[in-house]
Amino acid sequence: MTATTQTAPGLTTAESPNATPRRSLTAADRCDRCGAQAFIAAEFTASELLFCAHHGREHRDKIESAITVDETSKLAPTNRQQGPVHA
Ligand SMILES: [Zn+2]
Repeated sequence: MTATTQTAPGLTTAESPNATPRRSLTAADRCDRCGAQAFIAAEFTASELLFCAHHGREHRDKIESAITVDETSKLAPTNRQQGPVHA
């Protein structure tokens, strides 16, 4: 039998000490626009902005490259295709 004890030399499982630990957003994190619960965090020159799912989507094209946390996937996909929108 062959023991498969492989250690990939270049592969570090430990997180880089220089990397900012990826925090998770809590219910205490609020959207800077409307005060709703934040699901997206974006960092702009040392200041962080939080966005709820709605405003995160609204400003997505502007903040996309700065997004550090995106937890919108935690939201249940209930708000898509909810039928025709009343004008
Ligand atoms: Zn908002």
